[in-house]
Formats: sequence, C-alpha cells, structure tokens
Amino acid sequence: MKTIIEPFRIKSVEPIRFTTRPERERLLRAANWNTFALHADDVMIDLLTDSGTSAMSAAQWGTMMTGDESYAGSPSFWRFDAAVRDLFDFVHIIPTHQGRAAEAILFSILGGAGCKVPSNTHFDTTRGNIEATGAEAVDLLVPEGHDPNDLSPFKGNIDLGRLERFMAEYADDVPCVMITVTNNAGGGQPASLENIHAAADIAHAHGKPFIIDACRFAENAHFIKHREPGQEHRSIPDIVRDMFSTADGMTMSAKKDALVNIGGWLALNDAELAMKARNRLIMTEGFPTYGGLAGRDLDAIAQGLAEVVDEDYLRYRVRTNEYLVERLDAMGVPVIKPAGGHAVFVDARTWLAHVPPLQYPGHSLACALYEAGGIRTTEIGTVMFGRRPDGSEQPAAMDLVRLAMPRRVYTQSHADYIVEVFDELRAGVAELPGYRITEEPPAMRHFTAKFEPLT
Ligand SMILES: *Cc1c(COP(=O)(O)O)cnc(C)c1O
Repeated sequence: MKTIIEPFRIKSVEPIRFTTRPERERLLRAANWNTFALHADDVMIDLLTDSGTSAMSAAQWGTMMTGDESYAGSPSFWRFDAAVRDLFDFVHIIPTHQGRAAEAILFSILGGAGCKVPSNTHFDTTRGNIEATGAEAVDLLVPEGHDPNDLSPFKGNIDLGRLERFMAEYADDVPCVMITVTNNAGGGQPASLENIHAAADIAHAHGKPFIIDACRFAENAHFIKHREPGQEHRSIPDIVRDMFSTADGMTMSAKKDALVNIGGWLALNDAELAMKARNRLIMTEGFPTYGGLAGRDLDAIAQGLAEVVDEDYLRYRVRTNEYLVERLDAMGVPVIKPAGGHAVFVDARTWLAHVPPLQYPGHSLACALYEAGGIRTTEIGTVMFGRRPDGSEQPAAMDLVRLAMPRRVYTQSHADYIVEVFDELRAGVAELPGYRITEEPPAMRHFTAKFEPLT
C-alpha cells in the first residue's frame, strides 16, 4: 500500500476553534503582529514548535496514574532509569526538568572563560548556556548544511576536517566536543553514524569527552536507517545504541523524542563529573531521583521512549514533512530540501523577493499564514538573529519560516489544509507587506517585539 496512514487512532480529542479571516486580522493587530503574542485558542493549526507539544498515548496517560511521588528512590525513577539505559548505555543518568537544565548543569562544570566548545551547530539554549559561563560556542557544520537546495543525505554532519584543525590548534581550551542530532538550528537535518563515530574519535584522540545533544535521536536514527549504506536492515534501537556507543555523555530534552510535555536528562560516564552534576542538580533542580519532575513525568518518559523508536511511527512522522515539502516545491514555494525530521522550512527571502531582509520577509509570511489560514509558525531569520549587541541591524544568513510539526497531533487533512493555505497565498505573495519593529527588548527580541506592516 502506498498510503501511509497515521499509525494510531484517536481516543481523546481537543476541539479546534474555527476563526474567520476578519477575526484573525483583528487578533493579529491586537497582538501587534507578533505570532508569539496570540492566544493559542485563536490558532487553528499551531506549528510554532515541536517542543513539549506531543500527544501522549493512552499507555503514557496510564503510567501517569500509576506514577509514584516518593521524594527519593521512587519506582518511577527506576523505570525511567531502565528505559533510558535500554537505549543509551551511560553509567550515570540524571533527570532534569528540561533540556536546557541539563545543559546549564553540564556547562557550569565544563565551561568557563577561555573555553571553546565545538559542535555541528549549537542550539540556541546550548549556545546560551555555554556563553553564560564566558566560554565560546563554535559551529563547524559541513558546507552543504548551509545550502537550501543541496540534496545531500546528511546535511547535519560536523565538518571533520575543520574539527581536526580546530582541535590541533585549540585542544587545550576544549572541555568537550558536541554534536546535535538532528541538527535543529540547521533545519532538522541528520548526522550520519559514520560522522558521529569519526567526531568521537577526534575528541578521544585529544583526550576529550564527546557529548551528544540527543533531542531528536529517533528521527536521526530513522534517517540513518534509510539513507546510510549498510544500515537498512538494522532496528532503530540497534542504530540508536550504535550512535551513542562511543559517546561519553548526552543532554536530552524529553519534550522532543521522548513524546512528553516536559522533562529531560543529563547522562555521563565519568564518576567525578557525575558527582559534580548531582551536587549542582540538588541546588537547582531537586533530588537526583526526580530532578525537577514529578514521578508520573518520569513514567511518561519511560513509556514514550519505547514508543518513539517504533518504525511505523517514525515513517509517518518523517513522511508528513516530506509530503509538505513535495507539495510546496511542486507549487513553486521555495523550501529547504531534503525535508528535515521535525519541521518544514520555507525560504521567505526568495519567495517574498520584493521585501528586503530588513523589512523581515519571514515575519511577513508568518503573519500572512495566520491571517489566511489561522496557521501559527515562526520566523527564523532577521527578526530572530539580525539585531547586533550595539542595537544596529544586519540581515541574517537566511530568512526562513519554520513549520514545526507537533508529534502525533495533526493528520493528513491538516497537512492538506496547510498546502491549500499556501496555494491561496501564492497569487498575492507579491503584495505581502514588509514590517517594521515599533518596540523591542535588547535581546531575544522575536518573542516580545511589536510590529507594524509597512504600507
Ligand atoms: C529543545 C532543544 C534544547 C533545549 O531543550 P528544552 O527542553 O527546550 O530546554 C536543546 N537542544 C536542542 C537541539 C533542542 O532542540
């Protein structure tokens, strides 16, 4: 059969409130044309993020009820610990309330002024936690990762040649080498098994630990299975274990590939690092058997890890993005190819060529998607990255709009609706306005800035 159906049926539903175009125009104006300021129940299809927005399964909700809330040594913790260990064979597993808490703890120990941490591409919270200690976060992505039209299978790879040269020059200042799978900031593109192992070898040749930012490990393993020669006959758990076999630690946001709404962990092999991490955890997150989470959250993670490596789930998950990319591409909407694991990226700078970068073409498209169809997305471009510390502005490398797909939330007809909204926008795309910012904070302005269309 060619039709890939959603590998679930729906037991519990949440209504979508339908809105009209005039209503949405009014709501967006009241939100000062910032999609982050919209109330979520005024949104029909919410593609703002895939983080913490997963639909949990009946089995996960069941474990929520049997979760144990003991302060120390809860059976929920031990079920969590066993489920994590089944896929990621690390000596110390330390729960945290989400991914950035694991990063903050790790870099409070490994960071510091003068340190340099290389990665394929650091996610913004990872970069923030590294830089907050005075250290430098260095991105060494392969060149094809920067080309939206390059169809290479592993555009999330770290550039091994640059990593070798970087280590030869700066190894004394490097506390660890990292890789992010999939590469979130780079469009959800995967890293190959070969690349992950080779990066670990370079780190180890210099006596440095190799840490994986593992948020989308299952999506990455799916791409390895289907794109890397010799991997197609292996099971997803087998590939996951191989990906992590030469790593010395991991940071994880369970809000992604553990199919839960909150949670994370830090895993380490080194006993001394783990002791320091647990001491820090007790000060900032909680006792080491709950780490800022309820016992029931730990159980939901344990069950989610068993579900996320299911091949039918992963095929459906990745296929949704491929389908959107194929349909948009066929319509002449410029998109980043190949499709990433968790999101579809539209190249708004190319599509809205009449809007200069400093009038925010990505932002303009995000506003138009909401007005035309009640679809909420986010700009990843000059609004997000264009402001320099001195307050001046420069165009970002690209002006993209991200359609991030929540896990197991939307169905095929929602995808078709998204395509139809793009189709409707097509005719009038040359008339979409640029925007100006009327009010902005000094940093992370995309969350709270106020805008106004230029007419
Ligand atoms: C989401 C994310 C994080 C941070 O995790 P939170 O749970 O949001 O704190 C870190 N790295 C990557 C690659 C992510 O996608």
